[in-house]
Amino acid sequence: MLTNINDMLRDAKRERKAVGAFNVYNFDTIRGVAMAAKEAGDAPVIMAFGQKYLTNMSMKEVRSLTDAITGTDPDLPIALHLDHCSDPDLIREAMDAGFTSVMFDGSRLPYEENVRLTKAVCQMAHARGRSVEGELGSLAAGRSSEEGGAEDRERYTDPDQAAEFVKATGVDALAVSIGTVHGMYQGTPNIRIDILKEINEACRIPLVLHGGSGTPEKDLLACIENGIAKINMNTEISQAAVKAIRGVLAESPENDPPHLSSLSLASQEAVRGAAKRYIQLFRGELQ
Ligand SMILES: [Zn+2]
Repeated sequence: MLTNINDMLRDAKRERKAVGAFNVYNFDTIRGVAMAAKEAGDAPVIMAFGQKYLTNMSMKEVRSLTDAITGTDPDLPIALHLDHCSDPDLIREAMDAGFTSVMFDGSRLPYEENVRLTKAVCQMAHARGRSVEGELGSLAAGRSSEEGGAEDRERYTDPDQAAEFVKATGVDALAVSIGTVHGMYQGTPNIRIDILKEINEACRIPLVLHGGSGTPEKDLLACIENGIAKINMNTEISQAAVKAIRGVLAESPENDPPHLSSLSLASQEAVRGAAKRYIQLFRGELQ
């Protein structure tokens, strides 16, 4: 059953758990994530589709495929969420295509502009029963992930500003920058739980951690303890699938390659396994 992210994140935060948001962009990822959630006991899950994957699939295709694979299962709560979008027109298009949730990423804009546009997106989305994730502060890209030092507060989310942002915009969830990076870390991760604690005290809504891939599990669990209710995983899931495909290819002679269907199955299976493990970790079921 498709739903927005509000109930699942509110429940998760109350229970000190987090919901996994996994990027989907083809049949294998949608099916792999759906199987993972089903096997994890109908655990709530978020299928995240980013603007950057519009070359792989249209939003209508994502919605149709999600419906075909999971939409008729009344026990499986799935949110179809538009990831990192800075274009209000695309957000409207996603909602028209049947996405149940959207992220407006105005983190690169001046603060006032981020507030103005996020608020407008919230008004548009809430009128249609869809949820909105906003972002404040900005994550480093994997290649420039050195953290620490006197400039921390300039790149990390400011707790007081976050509280003001939530109040001014009406966002349902807030993505924060506390030291994770998009992609894989180049150096040792330095996750600032101290900043997260302050943000969590200042804003009571579910918080979102982007850049989950490569983050030590103890740090992910500490984040969940301190208000993170949604964790985005992309790179690691993709890497698991590519590794599995490489494994199948490595077993075949050069002049007798495997059938494409077996690569698709290997990919699905890897996505299923990796996503299921994270769903269980985020629900505290692996300790
Ligand atoms: Zn992200």
